[in-house]
Amino acid sequence: MAGGLASSGLSYARRMGAETVQVFVANPRGWATPAGSAAQDEEFRAACAAEGIPAYVHAPYLINLGSHTAETVERSVVSLRHSLRRGRAIGARGVVVHTGSATGGRPRAVALAQVRERLLPLLDELTHEDDPDLLLESTAGQGASLCSRTWDFGPYFEALDAHPKLGVCLDTCHIFAAGHDLTGPNGTRQTLDLLVETIGEGRLKLIHANDSKDVVGAHKDRHENIGAGHIGEDAFRALMTHPATENVPLVLETPGPGEKHAQDATLLKKLRDHP
Ligand SMILES: [Zn+2]
Repeated sequence: MAGGLASSGLSYARRMGAETVQVFVANPRGWATPAGSAAQDEEFRAACAAEGIPAYVHAPYLINLGSHTAETVERSVVSLRHSLRRGRAIGARGVVVHTGSATGGRPRAVALAQVRERLLPLLDELTHEDDPDLLLESTAGQGASLCSRTWDFGPYFEALDAHPKLGVCLDTCHIFAAGHDLTGPNGTRQTLDLLVETIGEGRLKLIHANDSKDVVGAHKDRHENIGAGHIGEDAFRALMTHPATENVPLVLETPGPGEKHAQDATLLKKLRDHP
């Protein structure tokens, strides 16, 4: 957050009428690991706690623990550890990280073995009671993505021994782009059922609520405002009433800023409160 987590980030969330907040603690498109401001971190943590606003951190996009490039893997570990530590400092419940891809033409099994080798130690470092969960976010299924369909979480969880600090962040745009049709009378329910079947109950910890500019299965990660894309309002209504989403916060990553975000938040609240 340019301008500081508390003074800029949290006040934006308040203006949007948000009940949940997600922040970056580093440039999402870089490898830098800024120390941040201890005073801002504490102010943010205290304000979120006082107002009952759950906070989440999104780790940088460059992180790929499945990469065949040693330098990328090393940087990924450093960057993710940084997001997890700063996550604790700001009182975040979870740190979202993308599940990565098997680059360089390597078999998925090789990449997953590397994910295990590098990620399991990071999960084991989360021993403090204030430590956030690590939330895996699947992708739209571009390239050699390690996790895009619901069942791909199976081998991923297995590679990480279904660690107790592991959870899932479901991005509606990504899962739709990956090929799960959320529309129709049963689309969303069936997709959530499949997800819970794979990861088990209680592992879905966060939802990235985004509509999609592209059709189902397009493997394109282009978010749209709620109700304005190919997923549509009905799917979000269905999302709210599925038992797996009870008490699971939603985060918007839709085009903004300002009025468009406020409208999305208002619409999601309406769908939740009057389904
Ligand atoms: Zn997302």
